[in-house]
Amino acid sequence: MKAGASEEMLKRRVYVVILLAALAGSLLGLALNEITGLASPFIRGLLIVSAAFEAFVVWLMHRGRLRLSVIEEALYIIPASLLVGVLVYALYIPASPEQADSALRGFYLWIPAVYIVVFMAHEGAGAFVRSFIVYLVVMAVSLPAAFGSVATMNSLSLDQLYISGAVVISFLYFISRLRDRLREAEVAAERMKRLAETDDLTGLHNRRRATRLLESEMERSRRHMHPLSVIVFDIDDFKRVNDDFGHDAGDAVLADLSRLSEKTLRDGDEMARWGGEEFLVIAPETDRGSAQKLADRLRESIEEKKFGFGGGISASFGVSELRKHDSATTLVKRADTALYRAKTGGKNRVEA
Ligand code: GH3
Ligand code: MG
Ligand code: MG
Repeated sequence: MKAGASEEMLKRRVYVVILLAALAGSLLGLALNEITGLASPFIRGLLIVSAAFEAFVVWLMHRGRLRLSVIEEALYIIPASLLVGVLVYALYIPASPEQADSALRGFYLWIPAVYIVVFMAHEGAGAFVRSFIVYLVVMAVSLPAAFGSVATMNSLSLDQLYISGAVVISFLYFISRLRDRLREAEVAAERMKRLAETDDLTGLHNRRRATRLLESEMERSRRHMHPLSVIVFDIDDFKRVNDDFGHDAGDAVLADLSRLSEKTLRDGDEMARWGGEEFLVIAPETDRGSAQKLADRLRESIEEKKFGFGGGISASFGVSELRKHDSATTLVKRADTALYRAKTGGKNRVEA
């Protein structure tokens, strides 16, 4: 949701820039027409109307009144209408050849920009259809002139206009397909990365991911001078579950225990499968005393749970708190040593 909202914000910002550029272009065209003395009432009217439309859309956007989809249509329909109007003028209405030439130059120069804007605002197929409609309108408007004997005919190269339009649209479509592919590849890469960092059986972070998480939590805790603790725990006599009930029953225990433990943990705690039947909990903002309490809550919940094979299990816990000169390795090593003490001290207990 959040990513979608910020993407919409970004799009709106880009569209405002495009519309303002179109507005500036319309006003500049208006000014140039007056300066060069090529102004005709028709072109002047077109430029004023399109500038007014562009300003109106920007104003509505500023007031937050327009849906994104409406803006995305207005974005190219306004300039496309202006340019088609200019083309009609150049082919059928001009008072002089100079005026026709000037109008045609404007049309030829700017029609590719309309196709580009269409492809900026729309996805592959939708953009193709929209730009093709613009292309067909241009063709429909100009074909009578191509076959008729219009006075300005010698300054036209409608054949090139049709070919270049088709080429530009094809290229843009090709580029937008590449863009889509790239996006798909990014999504796939993201999924692969998640898979590579997740333990298949339990769905927990695997050791590689846990190590990275631990390192970044250590850095954060040092920066803010907040405590950080880790808990390492290992299932007691797990080999017996495997031996008595089979490997599948053992697997089910690991999966169930992971789900159960995650429920017991707080938001912000991270849990990983550290080894075969050994788990690591990273507890930010937690000193040794609180981590011991958390470990004891975990221990109790595991002890009370009846597992799929029909019996219960227990686990032993080692807790350590981050010290000044700790690395991830020494921090976990201390928790491991405490875990060893819990095992030799009779299992199903917490040591720090
Ligand atoms: P202790 O109380 O000393 O921890 O005894 P234990 O039997 O749990 O200890 P040990 O580490 O000797 O044995 C762990 C067993 O966990 C051995 C191995 O077969 C089993 N194990 C490790 N990974 C898996 C797994 O993914 N699935 C299953 N079913 N068993 C596993
Ligand atoms: Mg064990
Ligand atoms: Mg073990």
